[in-house]
Amino acid sequence: MSDDCLFCRIIRGEIPSKLVAQTPECLAFRDIDPQAPTHVVIVPRAHIPSLANVADPLIVGQMTRLATDIAESEGIGASGYRVVVNTGSDGGQTVFHLHMHLLGGRRMTWPPG
Ligand code: AMP
Ligand code: ZN
Repeated sequence: MSDDCLFCRIIRGEIPSKLVAQTPECLAFRDIDPQAPTHVVIVPRAHIPSLANVADPLIVGQMTRLATDIAESEGIGASGYRVVVNTGSDGGQTVFHLHMHLLGGRRMTWPPG
């Protein structure tokens, strides 16, 4: 846990969020600034700054499984969706607590900006 980390504060319940799902390892909540009709952020409960700092890759699999389960429950499993992990400053990461974005409900464009 990190005292001043935004997502750690959400995990601790110090900052409100719209909870979508939780597991023993992960929490999923709605992005405050949604970029698609479905935009959910999936985070590990443990403070890991970014994908570059993952020690045990199991957590990435657990996050991915939660993302695909949420895609099904949000009704975008068949239409498709995008899972994004922005990493580092050139990757567009602004919150340095590992997270996956689950985006869907509209057609995504490629390449991303
Ligand atoms: P990234 O830019 O990949 O680091 O993603 C950080 C995401 O966190 C952005 O999409 C923000 O909109 C989102 N975000 C920031 N503050 C909050 C919050 N309080 N609750 C939910 N999502 C947030
Ligand atoms: Zn954190």
